Amino acid sequence: RPDHAHHAKIPLPGDLFAPERHNSGGIEFGERAALDRLLTEVKAATPDLKPVADATPEQAGAAIAAARAGFAGWSRTPAATRAAALEHAAHLLESRNAHFIALLQAEDGKTLDDALSEVREAADFCRYYAAQGRKLFGSETPMPGPTGESNALALRGRGVFIAISPWNFPLAIFLGQVTAALMAGNSVVAKPAEQTPRIAREAVALLHEAGIPKAALHLVTGDGRTGAALTAHPDIAGVVFTGSTDVARHINRTLAAKDGSIVPLIAETGGINAMIADATALPEQVADDVVTSAFRSAGQRCSALRLLFVQEDVADRMIEMIAGAARELRIGDPSEVATHVGPVIDAEAKQRLDAHIARMKTEARLHFAGTAPEGCFVAPHIFELRDASQLGEEVFGPILHVVRYRAETLARVLQAIERTGYGLTLGIHSRIDDTVEAIIDRIQVGNIYVNRNMIGAVVGVQPFGGNGLSGTGPKAGGPHYLTRFATEQTVTINTAAAGG
Ligand code: NAD
Repeated sequence: RPDHAHHAKIPLPGDLFAPERHNSGGIEFGERAALDRLLTEVKAATPDLKPVADATPEQAGAAIAAARAGFAGWSRTPAATRAAALEHAAHLLESRNAHFIALLQAEDGKTLDDALSEVREAADFCRYYAAQGRKLFGSETPMPGPTGESNALALRGRGVFIAISPWNFPLAIFLGQVTAALMAGNSVVAKPAEQTPRIAREAVALLHEAGIPKAALHLVTGDGRTGAALTAHPDIAGVVFTGSTDVARHINRTLAAKDGSIVPLIAETGGINAMIADATALPEQVADDVVTSAFRSAGQRCSALRLLFVQEDVADRMIEMIAGAARELRIGDPSEVATHVGPVIDAEAKQRLDAHIARMKTEARLHFAGTAPEGCFVAPHIFELRDASQLGEEVFGPILHVVRYRAETLARVLQAIERTGYGLTLGIHSRIDDTVEAIIDRIQVGNIYVNRNMIGAVVGVQPFGGNGLSGTGPKAGGPHYLTRFATEQTVTINTAAAGG
């Protein structure tokens, strides 16, 4: 388990999302002082926001060639040295906390709370993969065998890994992918989201400073066309991708069309995440957890709640309480401490979400619409659907859809969830153990949260990732993740013939 001492979260004043609001009943003097100091440092930070030019196709090809050349040296670097570089990177990240928070706010619109958690998560990935890597890659595993023969199994890097990441965790997911691939002994060409190249540029510079050789890690900026060119290149040994299901399908087809090699894809993709709240659930807790799960980060989390199934007997009261809790949210400037919901990523995302809200207004019952300032903001909305299928595809913003069900039709709720084809996160609110167990037993989703909110992917504690259309696994921040970046080699030696 990673060291959790640095996980003691600083509660933000009036933060609806901070669990400490319920647990500690207030801000301790020392924490308040730490928060004030951090805020001063964040305000004083001046991240470099100069535009980052997209790579040309020639530069993308040159990066792969250079990574290929860098593979030999890096893959032979002892695992302990690779791990030490990642640990150094975690330390550098933490010591530049305020700088990265300011950058996440400026380029990605993150609230202070979200930006702070993201820097911590990024550092956790570095330390966790370093610790796992020492174990997995530090020595060969001797295998049993007959006398006169020695057998050993070793994990080795595959070659050049392409790492393609989304904008919604531009530091943590970007670094999580890259550090896993590097720890496993691969050289890496990283292609961040076109919306967040500056964060990626600084993250790569930090890894180089921490001791990752320049030959082993290359950054290629650009949009989907650049990603497509990199994945189509004949000299790559693996792809790790986090983003939408459609793009993962596209990459899958590109890799399948290669005649010269069979290239593995590790993909973490979208979800239509549900929560089931039955009549025994505690309404206040449901209201709080729903608001956190659906509206935190402006709903721009792959784990966010989209579809809430509420048992009919308590539905009116629950919806009213959820709307009441949503009404307390402050939407606006992410650099303001009191802000709960910041902007959505760009005008295109806003347009898509506005169109979805307009459709829902004609097809569903509106229970709540918040107010948002001018600009790239989308106010939280709560709609009630007759049927879950009205939702359509993944909606990546602060819009919650509620469907009522009767106790006798719970099986139909589970069918509706399965019919989405996704399997990322699921929330269950119930005080009946049998109900909880029956749902867990039946539904194949990657991360299940019982009687709590659906925000939780702490590295080494809640390994994260989905099934079906939501991804290939293995789970990021889990004990099996690194093995998929590696190839296994068994060496059998006839020791008698060698005279030994
Ligand atoms: P996206 O799929 O549009 O883009 C992701 C990345 O893929 C970007 O870097 C983009 O440039 C690149 N890309 C686009 N087309 C490509 C192509 N043809 N070939 C190769 N690369 C290409 O996703 P997004 O909008 O950046 O992120 C939001 C999506 O990510 C949501 O669907 C969300 O659910 C998902 N997501 C999933 C997880 C998870 O862990 N399961 C985590 C975060 C985000």
